[in-house]
Amino acid sequence: MKLRSVLVLALVFITALAFSLNVIFLVGDGMSFNQLLLASILEGRVLTTMTLPYTGITTTYSADSWVTDSAPAGTALFSGYKTLNRAIGVPPDGTLVPSMYELAKKSGYNIGIAVTCRVTHATPAAVYGHVASRDDEVTLAKQLAESGVVDVIFGGGWDMFVPTAQGGRRTDGLNLIEMMTKNGYEYITTPEQLNKVSSSKVLGLFTKGHLDPVSSRPANQPTLDAMTKKAIELLSKDGKPFMLMVEGSQIDWESHANDFYGVWKEVVEFDNAVKVALEFAAKDGNTLVVVLGDHETGGLSLSKGGYTINVEQARKAKGTTQMFLAQYNISEKDKFMAGLKEWYGISVTDAEYENLKKIPASDLRRQLARFVGEKLGFGWTTFDHTAAPVPVYAFGPGAHYFTGFMDNTDVPKILMTLTRISSITFPVIKETGSGY
Ligand SMILES: [Zn+2]
Repeated sequence: MKLRSVLVLALVFITALAFSLNVIFLVGDGMSFNQLLLASILEGRVLTTMTLPYTGITTTYSADSWVTDSAPAGTALFSGYKTLNRAIGVPPDGTLVPSMYELAKKSGYNIGIAVTCRVTHATPAAVYGHVASRDDEVTLAKQLAESGVVDVIFGGGWDMFVPTAQGGRRTDGLNLIEMMTKNGYEYITTPEQLNKVSSSKVLGLFTKGHLDPVSSRPANQPTLDAMTKKAIELLSKDGKPFMLMVEGSQIDWESHANDFYGVWKEVVEFDNAVKVALEFAAKDGNTLVVVLGDHETGGLSLSKGGYTINVEQARKAKGTTQMFLAQYNISEKDKFMAGLKEWYGISVTDAEYENLKKIPASDLRRQLARFVGEKLGFGWTTFDHTAAPVPVYAFGPGAHYFTGFMDNTDVPKILMTLTRISSITFPVIKETGSGY
């Protein structure tokens, strides 16, 4: 009798798991409407992200500012709680709140992350971490290693995992890579290994720090779509449900740099990852894909006045201004001016050149990017974030819930309700129209 009850329970549990929804959540860091549209205009095509059937808009503000940073933004999107700027997984009252990934792990889900920054950077850290300050990445690495919440980890930043004596940043002497290997993770560091790996628990750290920007990434670092594809393969192969968080981490940084070319290429890489997720979801039938930005960066506007953008010229640009400045020295006037003409098709007056020359070297990259972008018709208002709302796109079972104007904390509440992973009582979600 007792054995029978156990068997029935096990069957119920297995059945529930078998029908549990997979969730692929793709976050374009710093990506709002205009970053997407800029890439679409310069590509001359509709991006895959834009083809998802359901669309909504979310707020981005944190507990203490209309202008959030990625730490409370990630916390809001993954746990459903607002918190202070710079805090991860810890609301203002100091209690710890679980992310939906931590809850899903307890419900038998496989969990993965694939990012182009350090895996301890703010957005991926909000999947598994709890710290008052996002700068505490050595603690976040320890939390990632000790919690075992994330099964498949792809990104950069091995320096947070190893002691200073071994070239890392840890002063506590811990080697978290060794610890994780002992706990059953396979450790990989190259795109070739990424291709071949078939373990269900993998730590893939492909760089010491962040991956290089996609515009200048060497071949010994993987693309976001390759990481996404492999993560889906590994997470889905044992038949358990899975949740994967993918981040286009550097859309934000190129927006901080006000670099239209960098934003274009980062959005395209992110969109390629969306395509991979969508192809899997369409075939699988039981996978929900949600794509959104966590906030807007740069105050990007798609005009600098005059009812025009020089699209044709912008498309011919040869690289980011970071790449440009690696080849051209501002003190060599003729070469520098000729270089700007060649790379961006723009003519610079003597007065403009003198102004550029006055900029401190440390600030030149972003000031030059803003200058170049404005010449071509792209405007920027800040080198920081803005309070602008962001779009959310969805495909798959439950996608129709992601419509209308929402708070960013509504997104995980809907996901937790759909996946039934949370016992937290959230407001009842109203059915909207047809769908799945
Ligand atoms: Zn962000």
